Amino acid sequence: MRRKMIRNGAPKMLDIPSYDGCLRPSRMPRGRMHDPRTGEILESDIQFYHNIMNLARDWYFVQVGHLDPRAQKLPIPDDLMGELIRYVVAHEVGHTLGFQHNMKASSTYSLDQVRNRDWVKKMGHTPTLMDYSRFNYVAQPEDKIDLEDLIPKIGPYDKWATMWGYKPIQGAASSEDEKKVLNGWALEQDKTPHLRFSTAKSRGSDPGDNTEAVGDADAVAATGLESKTLRERWIC
Ligand SMILES: [Zn+2]
Repeated sequence: MRRKMIRNGAPKMLDIPSYDGCLRPSRMPRGRMHDPRTGEILESDIQFYHNIMNLARDWYFVQVGHLDPRAQKLPIPDDLMGELIRYVVAHEVGHTLGFQHNMKASSTYSLDQVRNRDWVKKMGHTPTLMDYSRFNYVAQPEDKIDLEDLIPKIGPYDKWATMWGYKPIQGAASSEDEKKVLNGWALEQDKTPHLRFSTAKSRGSDPGDNTEAVGDADAVAATGLESKTLRERWIC
């Protein structure tokens, strides 16, 4: 059941023409290629537009260029561009696994957490790659966050959602048998807010359902820090 939920859900989402950082899974003929008996994904593609590099460079320059000397002159070095591309591709790989966007995710971390060097090292500045949280523009020089941690990475929500969707349940002979275990796993969201998610159909009904946001548990304060950076660093 869960494999059908995940894998049948994915092609519908992939079929929606949308702008997604100039890069998105390609549309398959008839929208999907999976085993109809099991829902197993047999094949999927990621279509890569050339100007994702310009977009990722611009995001990085504006959002965290004040923290990374590599981004303070053009062209940015290949090793940094490779990291930026890896981030965007990893998001798209998430779609091929059936994951929808989760724009709420970044709002489940506090401002203090996304400025905490140890926290972001372990947890990232957003709990999932499937948010549009981009780069950690909330971070300030005195936070001393490692450069590699300014970029979104696989987070605790990604690991948990992958577990829910794909971990074998020993002894379950049918999808009905799996339900009890799956529902138990889902209840972890009650005590762990960063495992919660929103979907596109929530249409903004959740105040945390923001795109292009980091630390939006307090969106005003987070934006204030970004504005401060822009004023001090980039506006003469
Ligand atoms: Zn996406």
